[in-house]
Amino acid sequence: MSAWQNARLAGGAAVMRAMGLPRIARRRYDWYPLVVTYHGVHDGSLADDHARFSTKHVGVDEFRRQLEWLRRHYEIVPLSEIESILREGRWRRGVAAITFDDGYENNLTVAWPVLKALGLPATLFVTVEVVDRRRPYDHDRIELSLRYASARRIDLEAGGARRTFELCDDATRAAAVYAAKAWYASLPADKAARWLDQLMAQCWQDDFVDRCPVAYRPLTWPQVRRLSDEGFEIGSHTLSHPHLARVDDARLRRELTESRAVLEAKLGRPVLRVSYPYGSVDARTPRAAAEAGYASGYTTRTWWTTDPRDAYRVARISVGAGQPFGLFVVAMTRALQLVGLGGRSASSSS
Ligand SMILES: [Zn+2]
Repeated sequence: MSAWQNARLAGGAAVMRAMGLPRIARRRYDWYPLVVTYHGVHDGSLADDHARFSTKHVGVDEFRRQLEWLRRHYEIVPLSEIESILREGRWRRGVAAITFDDGYENNLTVAWPVLKALGLPATLFVTVEVVDRRRPYDHDRIELSLRYASARRIDLEAGGARRTFELCDDATRAAAVYAAKAWYASLPADKAARWLDQLMAQCWQDDFVDRCPVAYRPLTWPQVRRLSDEGFEIGSHTLSHPHLARVDDARLRRELTESRAVLEAKLGRPVLRVSYPYGSVDARTPRAAAEAGYASGYTTRTWWTTDPRDAYRVARISVGAGQPFGLFVVAMTRALQLVGLGGRSASSSS
């Protein structure tokens, strides 16, 4: 995010606060639980301008300030409590929960100590194959490749389309990251895999994980177990992180059922909640999640786009790095809805 965009967002948030919109929004929408989603929290190991390339990892000071604000304004509860509220229709005001998607190592090393110190419960949704293979997510590999490769240009081809990405400076590299991620997301699985191979071949060798900045490293199984033992609830973020709305019925079942089975076997305790990668759901997803044994499922969609009582399509709001604090407050109170914004969370990769 550029300094100009940041200033504009901060200005917009300040105007909304001056108009009292957060207060009005809380009066109007506070009956619906607020579920917040983070991805990573970094300890300063990422450069100050990293939000230019990705908004997934929030700085630890920013994270602590946001949690302290949430704790002052909401009763922070575990997801089991959110589930009961939705199922039983016992609506009550000012309830919130904190979740994490994907399973970065920094959830243990940076985020968990802050949550513990503040006494806040949280749920971490883990992608099984990312931990198994100890390999960064594809969207992180795209970002890291284009951001750090010594190559000055990359040529990629898929489905007859060919494109050259110039990597001259931070601005062109950041533009390339966004364009390449969008292209990758639009490709069917087989073409996407070949496309990524081309990119990796031009940028990185086998030591990719070792050269991977610490913020992007996935958790290991002993680390996931430790978090679970210490009270961080672990949920499933599927086996391989697909768009569930784009996979066939058999794969949908497998992603939900096997990921739960693996996590339960690894952790020795029930795994009852799932978050859908990219918030991707269709009409089949809630039933498939229920049949796989989950008690609730989480999207990154906002609640006014779905049935708010549906425990298998629980809405969440994503928090991205580089967001001015005023905008965080506006988003959490759901004041963006009052002005017709915020229909889908701003963070694109989840
Ligand atoms: Zn995800």
